[in-house]
Amino acid sequence: METASKRSPETAALIVGAGAGQRFGHAKAFVSWRGEPLLYWAARPFARSEDVGAIVLVVRDEDRKAGEAVLARLGKPGGVVAGGATRSASVRAGLAALPASVERVLVHDAARPNVSEEMVARLLAEEGDCVLPALAVHDALHRQRGTQNEPVDRDGIVRVQTPQMLRREVLQRLHRGDPDAADDGGLALAAGFNVRYVAGEEGNIKVTMPQDLAWLDRITGDLRVGHGFDVHRLEEGRRLVVCGVDLPSRRGAVGHSDADAGAHALMDAILGAAGLQDIGYHFPPGDPRYAGADSISLLRQVAEMARGAGFAVTHADLTILLEEPKVGPHRQEMQARLAGALGLDARAVSVKATTAEGLGPIGVGEGIAAWAVATLRTVPGA
Ligand code: MG
Repeated sequence: METASKRSPETAALIVGAGAGQRFGHAKAFVSWRGEPLLYWAARPFARSEDVGAIVLVVRDEDRKAGEAVLARLGKPGGVVAGGATRSASVRAGLAALPASVERVLVHDAARPNVSEEMVARLLAEEGDCVLPALAVHDALHRQRGTQNEPVDRDGIVRVQTPQMLRREVLQRLHRGDPDAADDGGLALAAGFNVRYVAGEEGNIKVTMPQDLAWLDRITGDLRVGHGFDVHRLEEGRRLVVCGVDLPSRRGAVGHSDADAGAHALMDAILGAAGLQDIGYHFPPGDPRYAGADSISLLRQVAEMARGAGFAVTHADLTILLEEPKVGPHRQEMQARLAGALGLDARAVSVKATTAEGLGPIGVGEGIAAWAVATLRTVPGA
């Protein structure tokens, strides 16, 4: 196998994500899923493939910086270029950025984040000007024709996905001018090139509508739920930091770090779900590195640890028990701070609060407690 891969022509991936994503309200390539943009997940199997030497990301001009950050995390040589007004213009821009030595190009849509490394290998194992992943059609097909629709014989009809492998010179020739091309394979067929098919993947869905992300969640990865709890004493003359927000308060929380009970409970919930011990194990209270530490940055590290173990945080729910001040006016800011550290949309983080109704030590203002539940999913390919 090793000698075969050394002899094989040089291959690059071209990930096209320059669409405006009108149905999402913003560029689909940068819609966050499992803590990373769709573009990252779409490109990752190519980054992991030993047969792919370079990755070129085609994004909107205003997304170039974000695209470069994605490429850096993928850890593969390549480039980030601005796409054009049409899909064909974007493909041409990507082609122009490929190293001269590249002979085969895998064109993939950034809106397909659940493609596998096996799919990439299947495409590269087949010879041809153009190799396409295809799937059978099992549903009945009808064509709408005014008032009288008609049945369509589905015999021989296949659904074609990306990634699509094309020889570089073929792809270049197909995109001369500005063909209206949703599909490079279709252009190759129309131009009479040798087109081959390999098995596609049902899970390799194209994220088109916001609800497709929920579908993607259902078909990918195991679900884990973790629980965390934390309590801190309150004393006069200290800061009261809760979920990354400084609350106006006469009394503040006592602790080695910034003593953010909300962030700490959430960190333990994440560590618990990922099977990674607890906060005291990773950030020992006596360690001078964590004196006065910003717990939001520790939370970010915990999310990274979970990622390293193959899990992405997808949701968090917290309850804060505090007599005063009121948490409600700061809730949105807290949710945004936590969500920012986890790479989540703020709607995926919930912060609730209650008082102890004057009962017990927390009821008389001597402490703060927090509970958190974190939902984690295994990341694709983990
Ligand atoms: Mg704590």
